[in-house]
Amino acid sequence: LRIIRTIAEMAAFAPGDTGFVPTMGAFHEGHLALMREARGKHANVCVSLFVNPLQFGRGEDLASYPRDEDRDFHLAKEIGVDVMFAPASEEMYQGQSTLINVADITDYWEGQCRPRHFDGVATVVAKLFNIVRPRVAYFGWKDLQQCLVVRRMVEDLNIPLSLSFLETVREPDGLAMSSRNVYLTPEERSKAPQLYRTLGTIKSLLELGGTNPASVDALLSDGRLSLERYGFAVDYLEVVSLADMKAARRAGEAALIVGARLGTTRLIDNCRLKIPQG
Ligand code: AMP
Repeated sequence: LRIIRTIAEMAAFAPGDTGFVPTMGAFHEGHLALMREARGKHANVCVSLFVNPLQFGRGEDLASYPRDEDRDFHLAKEIGVDVMFAPASEEMYQGQSTLINVADITDYWEGQCRPRHFDGVATVVAKLFNIVRPRVAYFGWKDLQQCLVVRRMVEDLNIPLSLSFLETVREPDGLAMSSRNVYLTPEERSKAPQLYRTLGTIKSLLELGGTNPASVDALLSDGRLSLERYGFAVDYLEVVSLADMKAARRAGEAALIVGARLGTTRLIDNCRLKIPQG
């Protein structure tokens, strides 16, 4: 496994068939699943490790974000990743005037809770795509809105690559793996799986047929109340369309999404569901 720190070196690497996994490091099984998938499909696998300052808001956890490059290096090496692109932030941003704003689908949910977060994501992902020039890039559904933002950007800007989205990898108790889970106190950690359980409960009730808009609203407000009783501060809990991220009540491909805080830690999760014909 080769570590590359400069854009010039990374751009010169340019092998034909690269599978690319962009990350912010502090690897867990979710990251490793993306790397394994890419390893199985491509002649070359590149993982980037870059804690992107542009996607953190003021007062967010940029400074405290978990970092352990040595551990990440060894984990990626075991999987057989070829290149780890780990630039310093001065290498990536030498005066950045251009920002990519994917409009509309960033207006809600994470986009609303974290103003300009997705501009930072879209911009760094576009830069990384241009530097690494992968054939396929791999992302996790855990960050569902991020997947849709990247998909929209790739379509709108005709970026010549394909995207592959992989299922969320979970702890045995259902908690979605996240680098931020290390922030949880033991007590918060024991409550955290409630996020996933609540999604599961709402999903099964919805798919059983509670699909008139009023009953969906009632399920969502019950879910929100129950999370609040566990101590979550709920930013949003919604059923959204997978096409445009808007709240959805009609039959079709949708997702149940949640963003909530437990103490000082923000957690997000989602599950896809089909709203049956009412
Ligand atoms: P991050 O390092 O948090 O920016 O995540 C890097 C990539 O891993 C993104 O595409 C995430 O969606 C994905 N990812 C994060 N957590 C998980 C998970 N629990 N399961 C699957 N993919 C994940």
